[in-house]
Amino acid sequence: MSRGLELFIRMHLEKTPSMQRGRQTLTGDVILGVLGKLQREHPLGSDAIMWRWLDDAQARERIEQRLLNKLKLGETVRKDLGKYIVLTAIDAFHGTPTPSQARKLKTLWKAHSEQAKRSKRLIRGYKLSIAKVEKQELAATSEFRQKHYQGEISRLNGLVEAERARLDTYAEKQASKSTKCPKCAGTGQVKMNACGACEGHGALWLTADGLKKVLRSNGMRLSEKLWRDELEPAFTQTLWWLDVAHDEAAHALSKYLMGEKAA
Ligand SMILES: [Zn+2]
Repeated sequence: MSRGLELFIRMHLEKTPSMQRGRQTLTGDVILGVLGKLQREHPLGSDAIMWRWLDDAQARERIEQRLLNKLKLGETVRKDLGKYIVLTAIDAFHGTPTPSQARKLKTLWKAHSEQAKRSKRLIRGYKLSIAKVEKQELAATSEFRQKHYQGEISRLNGLVEAERARLDTYAEKQASKSTKCPKCAGTGQVKMNACGACEGHGALWLTADGLKKVLRSNGMRLSEKLWRDELEPAFTQTLWWLDVAHDEAAHALSKYLMGEKAA
């Protein structure tokens, strides 16, 4: 998929009422008109764009209906399993993390984000203070002083715990939002090398193999034959349909918008 095209769409679909580009102005009315045309002429692709870039839940509903109807599941496939595969592919296309991706992302956010650096710095500071007060406690000559230092230590420990909890909450929230890789901030590169956390993709990708592992680790019993003949094709085909429809609609959108600007 063309990255330039994706940026182009994002640029044009920003939720601004009007956009100045050179001497021409694309007003909200023009954009709505263009999107209406796109919806009529490229229904699936238009919804794919709306779902991926604008988190449009109704567009997702329509995609779901259309693809579930389109997908011819064999007699051997349990309907709920086939449906689950298609829905998972629709979410993977959008970049919604699966639960196991979210767990991995959470770990990455806790290790690599700005918030993680801040929290670690604070915690380091608290721990240094704790070490200092512990020495003072050992050297204390009265029970009163000892009690005082113990109170101080437990206060500092409380701050450490609170900071850890804060980072945990933050990481969990970030991890639920998108599959973008926190280690390389979505660039796929760390110090000129491919990022090890996302294998250079800039985001965690759900592969068919990854999905099979998820299903098996959830206790689903799948024969190799069922997987190979029915389920894997359902997954890759759904992603393929969405990618192709998205790109076709993006090309059309680009053409319409160019046309409007030239008019
Ligand atoms: Zn990465």
